[in-house]
Amino acid sequence: MNEDVEELKDGENPVDCRTYYRRGNVFLEKNDFDKAIEYYNTALVLNPGFAEAYYNRGLCYYQMREFDVAIKEFGKAIEFSPLDSKIYVNRGIAYYRKLCFVKAIADFDEAVSLNPSYSKAYYNRGLARGCLQEYKEALKDFDKTIELDSNYVEAYFMRGSVFEALGEYEKALKDFEKTLELNSSHSGAEAKRKLVKLELNKKTRGASESKNAEKLEREGVFFQSEKKSFTEALETPATRFSDVGGMSELKEALRELIIFPLQDAELAESYGKKAGGSVLLYGPPGCGKTFIAQAVAGEANAKLVSAKLSDLLDMYVGNSEKNIHTLFETAKQNTPAILFLDEVEALTGCKTDSGRWERSIINQLLEELDELDKTHSRVLVIGASNAPWLIDPAFKRSGRFDELVYVGPPDECAREEILKIHSRGMPVSENVDFALLARETNGFSCADVKTLCKQAASIPWREALQNKTKRKR
Ligand code: ATP
Repeated sequence: MNEDVEELKDGENPVDCRTYYRRGNVFLEKNDFDKAIEYYNTALVLNPGFAEAYYNRGLCYYQMREFDVAIKEFGKAIEFSPLDSKIYVNRGIAYYRKLCFVKAIADFDEAVSLNPSYSKAYYNRGLARGCLQEYKEALKDFDKTIELDSNYVEAYFMRGSVFEALGEYEKALKDFEKTLELNSSHSGAEAKRKLVKLELNKKTRGASESKNAEKLEREGVFFQSEKKSFTEALETPATRFSDVGGMSELKEALRELIIFPLQDAELAESYGKKAGGSVLLYGPPGCGKTFIAQAVAGEANAKLVSAKLSDLLDMYVGNSEKNIHTLFETAKQNTPAILFLDEVEALTGCKTDSGRWERSIINQLLEELDELDKTHSRVLVIGASNAPWLIDPAFKRSGRFDELVYVGPPDECAREEILKIHSRGMPVSENVDFALLARETNGFSCADVKTLCKQAASIPWREALQNKTKRKR
């Protein structure tokens, strides 16, 4: 931070927390969350009761999808500013993203009691209630949102969706049409409008129309807008084991467990080894679970189909199951494939909130895993989790995630390799002592080591930009 203090402009006070808060806001606006957090940290050192700085730091963590940390930050902000309704709304949204709907609703309740004309709070409470299938209550919230803000496009769309779920197609149609009136390129509303029209036709015209509707549904008209496609992201990654620092035992184990059987399935099967199956990588964040999955796919020359479990979840009955099914089908149609499923704990991360909705999704996932296990399909599922203890025990039975592999923080030797890997191609001075740096970075995750290399490179780069000359090595 010293460097930044020197850069203070006229009128900026180096011991005023708001100076750093304002700078943090500049980076927050540019979506440079790491930098913004650095400034908020300083603001909070100068003023540990600075609610807005906690709040904005929470927004950064939320954007970085670190929902647990974001929730803590919003909690701190509430401690110092308990009457600020927007903090409750944002914490509620973070709970919602973690699928903790009951806690989310409690926060939205608080927000509307503090500010009864807060349309966003009603809207989000409606979403959370919809997820709990409390449709009548959800409808009231969307009504209220629209009463407060008659141009709230998504509220019409969601209210229409609730009417659709309740089979009230006329009302649903009106809402989807209103959504399109306000936003003519709303593809979700367009697809749903078609669907409810079909449903209405079914009712009025009888069996022949109904067959047509079913056909269209099978062809995908129904879920066209929400149904996720995983084919765009399909690729064989360029990452290889040589890009992965350390982890030599893990690499060996994965070679035997995954890569060789995938490369020569027949040979593997003749020795009773399966070219497929599933493993669960677990360990702290930033230690390489995703990275190693990419390297496995690259090394095995397999396609990588990947998704975060939370991204597959959808509030409408049946859609999450369809997304999961599509994901597995995509992998099966593109063998050999590595299906990487991140955040496996997302389904069980909040047991108190779990209900019928969640159970049916868990069952879908179990079914897909069992199906793969039976068919020997040259698809290997790699699950990843930071909190394996939250995972439903049913996932850990034989044939499912029965291999658990710990991916922990890098040791000194691994850190040295990672430092070298992430300095490849950069003009590194001969004096850089990688072994010393590896010793000094005890406790760093792989991601931290990578960031260190990137930040170290930006110092001479900035110099070169300013002075138009490169440093001598
Ligand atoms: P999270 O649980 O937060 O998803 P993760 O364990 O999946 O984290 P990664 O996303 O795989 O962590 O790692 C973060 C970054 O760190 C990667 O993009 C990669 O560039 C780098 N990295 C991780 N492990 C290694 C490694 N062994 N060697 C070199 N770089 C690595």
